[in-house]
Amino acid sequence: MTDFAATKALFHLPAGMIYLDGNSLGPLPKTAAARVARTVTQEWGEKVITGWNRAGWMAQPERLGDRIGRLIGAEAGHVVLGDTLSIKVYQALAAAIDLVPDRKVILTDSGNFPSDIYMTEGLIKALGRGHELRVMAPQDVAGSIGGDVAVVLLTQVDYRTGRLHDMAALTKAAHGVGAVAVWDLAHSAGAIAVDVQGCGADFAVGCTYKYLNGGPGAPAFIYVAPRHIENCAPALSGWLGHAAPFAFDLDYRPGSGISRMRVGTPPVLQMAALDAAMDIWDHVDMAALRRTSIALTQQFIAGVEAACPMLTLASPRDPDARGSQVSFRFADGYAAMQACIARNLVGDFRAPDIMRFGFTPLFIDADDVDRAISIIADVMQNRLWDDPAYKAKAAVT
Ligand SMILES: *Cc1c(COP(=O)(O)O)cnc(C)c1O
Repeated sequence: MTDFAATKALFHLPAGMIYLDGNSLGPLPKTAAARVARTVTQEWGEKVITGWNRAGWMAQPERLGDRIGRLIGAEAGHVVLGDTLSIKVYQALAAAIDLVPDRKVILTDSGNFPSDIYMTEGLIKALGRGHELRVMAPQDVAGSIGGDVAVVLLTQVDYRTGRLHDMAALTKAAHGVGAVAVWDLAHSAGAIAVDVQGCGADFAVGCTYKYLNGGPGAPAFIYVAPRHIENCAPALSGWLGHAAPFAFDLDYRPGSGISRMRVGTPPVLQMAALDAAMDIWDHVDMAALRRTSIALTQQFIAGVEAACPMLTLASPRDPDARGSQVSFRFADGYAAMQACIARNLVGDFRAPDIMRFGFTPLFIDADDVDRAISIIADVMQNRLWDDPAYKAKAAVT
C-alpha cells in the first residue's frame, strides 16, 4: 500500500492552489531543487568533465530507464531515457517499420496526439518507400487491423478525452495479422498500471514531465521488447548509440541492447530532477494508485455533473475505459478554465471546447476534489467566465 498523504507532503504545491494539471506538467518534488543544485555545484562545478564518469552521468539514461521500467512492466535493461517524446516516437516507428518490410500501412487513430502524427508523416517522407498513414476513429481501430497493416501506432490514453485503449487486445490483434505495435504511454506512465511485457508490446515510448513529475523539458523514454532489440537498426544513429562511442570510428555500429536507442548527449540537469521524482515513484504501488485515481475521478464527475448541467462529460463514464483525467465540453471552455485558474484551480484547455482536469493521487486528495468542484460550480452557475479578460488566448493553453 502507498500512503498518499505522505507522498503529498513530498511535493511543493503553490500555496492555495488546487493543481489538476499534473497530467500536463507534474509539480516540483521538494528534493528536486536541492538535487539539481547539488548536480550543478558539486558535480558540474567541482567535477567538470569528469562528472560523466565520476558522477555517473553517462549511465544515468539506463539507470533511470530501469526505474521507469518498473512502472510500465518492462524487463530490466530495456528502457532508456533521452531526447523528447516526438523523437522517441520517430525512432520507435522507424524500427517498427523495418521489422515488417513487405507492408506499407501505419495505422493510428484521430485521438492520437498531433506530434505523433506529424512525426509519422515526416518519417514516411524521409523514407520515400510509399508508406501510408491510415487515421481511423478510435473506436474503429480494432476493426481496421488487417493483413496490409505493418505497424499499429497508438497512444493508449487519449490526451483530450482520457479514453483508454485496450493495450493487450489491440497488441494481440496486431500480432495476429503479423503487424507490430508501438504504444505511446505519455498519459499512461505514472497514471495507470501498465504492463508492456504482459501485453506483448513491441515498442513503447513516453514522457517524464507529465505524471512522472520530472520537470519541464525532462527527457522521454523508449522501451523495445527484448526479442526485437538486436534487430533494430537505429534510424537516428547518433554517437552515443554506437557500440564504442569513444573509439570515434567513422563507421556506425549499433550498441548492444537498448543503449542503441540513445542518440546524443543526455540532459544531465533534467535527469537530476527526474532522479528526485523517481525517489518517490520507487515506492508507489501502481494498483493502489489506480484505485485512488478512480475514486477521485468518480467523485469529481459526480460532483461536477450535479452542480453544472451546462458541462458535458467528454471522458468515458466507465472508469475502466479512461485514464487518470476527466474532460468536460463547454463552448466557452477556454474562458471557463481561465476563470477557474484565476480562482486557483488549475486545469487546462484543449481546442476546440475541452476543459481538462488531471488526477494524480500522489498529491491530489478527496478534499482537493471537493474544493475543485465548488470552484467550478461557482464559475459555471454565476457565469464568472463571461468576462473579456478570460477570453484572450495565451500561447500555451
Ligand atoms: C505530451 C505528448 C507529446 C509531447 O512530445 P514532446 O516531444 O515531449 O513535446 C507527444 N505525444 C503525446 C501522445 C503526448 O501526450
